[in-house]
Amino acid sequence: MNLDGIHHITAITGDAPRNVDFYTRVLGLRMTAKTVNQDDPSVYHLFYGDENAQPGADLTFFEYPGAVPGRAGAGMVHRIVWRVASPEAIDFWATRLGDDGVATERDGGSLRFADPEGLAHELVVDASGDEPLIADHPEIPAALALQGFEGVRAYSFRPDDSALLLERLMGAQRRDDEATFELRGERRGGWIAWDPAPAARGRQSAGTVHHIAWATTDADMQSWIDRVTSAGIPNSGYVDRHYFHSLYFREPGGVLYELATREPGFTVDGPVEELGTKLILPPFLEPRRAEIAARLTPLPDPRADRVRGAAAPGSAPAPARARLGLG
Ligand code: ZN
Repeated sequence: MNLDGIHHITAITGDAPRNVDFYTRVLGLRMTAKTVNQDDPSVYHLFYGDENAQPGADLTFFEYPGAVPGRAGAGMVHRIVWRVASPEAIDFWATRLGDDGVATERDGGSLRFADPEGLAHELVVDASGDEPLIADHPEIPAALALQGFEGVRAYSFRPDDSALLLERLMGAQRRDDEATFELRGERRGGWIAWDPAPAARGRQSAGTVHHIAWATTDADMQSWIDRVTSAGIPNSGYVDRHYFHSLYFREPGGVLYELATREPGFTVDGPVEELGTKLILPPFLEPRRAEIAARLTPLPDPRADRVRGAAAPGSAPAPARARLGLG
């Protein structure tokens, strides 16, 4: 019973329109779902991922409009590491991000940058052999696109206990650097690496990670619930998150973990072609659709222009704000 690496990562945004622009237009991810926070339906829960919305490339954001910038500290993930195919892809992203005014920094063969709210990302050349999870984007050749998560870097209040939980309870393999723990199953793998925590206390707000979910299956979920409960770790018990089934618990270093199933997946709402095109509500909120929709920040379909622009290949792209219907 192994975990298949990272299922999804959930972070916080204070500016949903800018968030959609950065992750879909600049980074080229697909908006795979636009729904609401089940625990607070007055705000969005936005999902970005690969073309088929598979576990392993799923970055999600809770929206808290106007939230002040946060800061990663002990007990928090501080950087998201993505795979790309080649050194040429690293060069492509350095240029593309630079052209969009995003500062980048090279470190060996990797490229670091942050989103508009300070959430840190790093691109590394993939050596995993896992299936690339790629979204289709008119300006980004598939060979250069982001390919899904490689891992996350985090700060722990108690690194030794964080390591013990990963190795003894979750089946992680410690790598040679002693600080990186890989969770690899039959389908794919991913890791969490611990860095020395800064002295300044963390603040969970815009531009910080809320939790990280590791991938499992419906077949294994009850066994995981039993295992976590038997270890005496307080946990959520089984939670139905509409797109997947989940178990939440906080690891001893302070990071909130979730185990999330592959099933049923994002096509539970309809065909893959329609992912992200309309506001999705879980069945228990559907009766309140009009009231909920009226309170949300209007957001466009990031791919709406592809249909309209399809007849004019090679035409100059409209300015980003206009394409997003913000201008
Ligand atoms: Zn989650």
